[in-house]
Amino acid sequence: MKVTEHLEKAKGSTLFSFEIVPPQKGQNIQELYDNIDPLMEFKPPFIDVTTSREEYVYIPKENGLLDKKITRMRPGTVGICASLKYKYNVDAIPHVLCGGFTKEETEYVLVDCHYLGLDNVMALRGDARKDQQYFEASNGGNRYATDLVKQINDLNKGKYLHEIIETPYKANFCVGVAGYPEKHLESPSLESDLKRLKEKVAAGADYVVTQMFFDNQKYFNFVKKAREMGIDVPIIPGIKPIAVKRHLQVLPQIFRLDLPQDLVNAIEACRHNKEIRQVGIEWAIQQSKELIEAGVPVVHYYSMGKSSNIKAIAKELF
Ligand code: FAD
Repeated sequence: MKVTEHLEKAKGSTLFSFEIVPPQKGQNIQELYDNIDPLMEFKPPFIDVTTSREEYVYIPKENGLLDKKITRMRPGTVGICASLKYKYNVDAIPHVLCGGFTKEETEYVLVDCHYLGLDNVMALRGDARKDQQYFEASNGGNRYATDLVKQINDLNKGKYLHEIIETPYKANFCVGVAGYPEKHLESPSLESDLKRLKEKVAAGADYVVTQMFFDNQKYFNFVKKAREMGIDVPIIPGIKPIAVKRHLQVLPQIFRLDLPQDLVNAIEACRHNKEIRQVGIEWAIQQSKELIEAGVPVVHYYSMGKSSNIKAIAKELF
């Protein structure tokens, strides 16, 4: 079922959903299921599965030099989605990236999703590769998420690449895109970024999921501005519970977001990670309560592969 249909069916009550990250290759898939199992009692209508950018690895050669090889360390997004769909009877949403894929490869991924009965896809540009300072599109790949949304929308019209086929059998994907309450790190202003978001919606995006934020006012302000600009699709807030002290540095650095001083103070006063985890859980509960009271359609949690803190939050709210 499409995300938009789940929202209609919920008739205004707030749903619970979360995002998972595929395991590193070589690891056991069971660990992923062990983390998902405890969250299923909260009846998520959908689960997102991320896709990671490709990266370089260096293989030692006999002559002492290194071979530079490109690889994906966390493959399997579409396969995991199919497995979740049939194992848990839940809608699983693959994240489809521009970066690292040609449009042809993207078409293969989308055709797989269609055949597997996945009704939703999340269309994202992807970040710059670890070895690159700025994002570079692949040769023959999509440059911006808007271009990818257009490609998906073409398939929804039965239009394949190069228009070599005309078919009455159309895909029917519901398309999610990313939104940034504190603006995307490369964007000159929140207004510019919202104009880009409006383009994604005009290209066919059906809903927005936001980057994590720790101050609800940022989300409320973002939604208000988006509505004023005519962006009328559902905007789902993304919440991440802080779990370790290092998050105080890495989250602002990676996502260019602000952490409220009260949260920073509470974490700095903790003596060990167990206490920090509890502060993160309580902060996320308070954030979620206020969002639910404000009538958000879904609270979407970034689990980063670990479920115990998400479960502690969900138990209080769903
Ligand atoms: P876009 O919408 O293309 O925007 C990227 C930047 O370009 C923005 O600054 C925008 O303002 C600007 N822009 C857009 N169009 C134009 C244009 N025509 N001309 C000039 N500038 C333009 N990353 C992953 O690698 N894997 C994932 O699974 C993943 N999941 C995510 C899930 C969510 C909910 C969110 C919020 C982010 C996720 N990301 C993921 C991160 C995302 O890929 C990065 O934030 C990326 O840098 C931007 O992606 P986007 O889809 O927002 O890009």
